[in-house]
Amino acid sequence: MSLEDHVEELASDLDVDKEEVRRDLENLVNYSVPMDEAKQSLRRKYGDGGGGGGSSGPSSKAIGEVTTDDSNVTVTAVVLTSGRRSIQYNGDEHVIREGELADETGAISYTAWDGFEGDLEPGATVQFGNAGVREWDGKPELNLGESTDATAVEESLDVDAEVGGEAALTALEPGDRGITVEVQVLECETKTIDGRDGETEILSGVLGDDSGRLPFTDWEPHDAIEAGASVRIEETFVREFRGAPSVNVSEFSTVTPLSDPVTVAEDAQQMAVGEAVESGGQFDVELVGNIIEIRDGSGLIERCPECGRVVQNGQCRTHGSVEGEDDLRTKAILDDGTGTVTAILDDELTEQVYGGGLDEAREHARDAMDKSVVADRIADRVVGREYVVRGSLSVDEYGANLNATEFDESTADPAERATALLSEVEP
Ligand SMILES: [Zn+2]
Repeated sequence: MSLEDHVEELASDLDVDKEEVRRDLENLVNYSVPMDEAKQSLRRKYGDGGGGGGSSGPSSKAIGEVTTDDSNVTVTAVVLTSGRRSIQYNGDEHVIREGELADETGAISYTAWDGFEGDLEPGATVQFGNAGVREWDGKPELNLGESTDATAVEESLDVDAEVGGEAALTALEPGDRGITVEVQVLECETKTIDGRDGETEILSGVLGDDSGRLPFTDWEPHDAIEAGASVRIEETFVREFRGAPSVNVSEFSTVTPLSDPVTVAEDAQQMAVGEAVESGGQFDVELVGNIIEIRDGSGLIERCPECGRVVQNGQCRTHGSVEGEDDLRTKAILDDGTGTVTAILDDELTEQVYGGGLDEAREHARDAMDKSVVADRIADRVVGREYVVRGSLSVDEYGANLNATEFDESTADPAERATALLSEVEP
């Protein structure tokens, strides 16, 4: 088919002026867009009833079909979540709204600038005309700005996604906004930080529910948030903190005390090592595997008295030549066949696996005239055995490190364990 044939076909299918179709099609083909794709894009452009004789406005799109190649789209969607956040822009303070929209084909994140307050109530069905599309983390996101118009739609859409943003802690992911959680405050401390307007106090600690635990920060301390309290927190957002999700409470969040205490899961979520590493980080997780090696920097070590970093040959990376302080630590490689992590044991857990405290370790090293005997004994005791390790997993440029809070030799039958793991992996 010649270009002219394609033009004929499109113009008659779409009931649009031939000249206009030819110009658009030539344009796209000149930009090396393959013919099929070019035609598809014109069908989308004129697809909603002919485009009023050639309007150049964006076409209506299903959310599932919005890609980062789109510049502007019109979507009709149900507002799933809406959370406010204050930002500094050109020296002024703006309150933006962020959340998710969905239709029958999928969900998409959005950022809305001033002027959409009444349109972004969770549950409302709205047509957003001329919404900008931008790329965030490789995915398309909608930008509702000055050129976007919002029109309430009468009939509601049948969406699969949950409206309102109520979520269990372990279901949260960095980037989630407008989220409501019901939790027990497990730990809470006041910290002073250097904020935008000088020194300011914030709260930080740990929240729990029946799914698990996550760290939190309250940037505008709420009285109801205190250790032991059970609370409902509306309008939180989720950020990444040390490789795991963290709940952020802001000036826009509503905190309501709950009279019935929220039950908190005793056990950490159990995962296969590979799955946990793949997830990018877990605040509280239980991994089971064999210790295959004890890494350098284990046993009797020295730390910088200034910063606590490990000192090598009397040198701190930041503070130069220092008088190191003795400490005990273990870095053990844990492997379950799906992946490996380095389990990091603090002084107390190291005392357990070494079978002695700092004084014994010093004496042991002095007698042997070699510090490495401490790490060697630890290796003798743990390498080749299976352990259940609970802790906080971070995955970054330093590798996959599990800061252990519990380190116990596994009592389960290895065959049983393998069967359980397989049943998790297989559908
Ligand atoms: Zn130092």
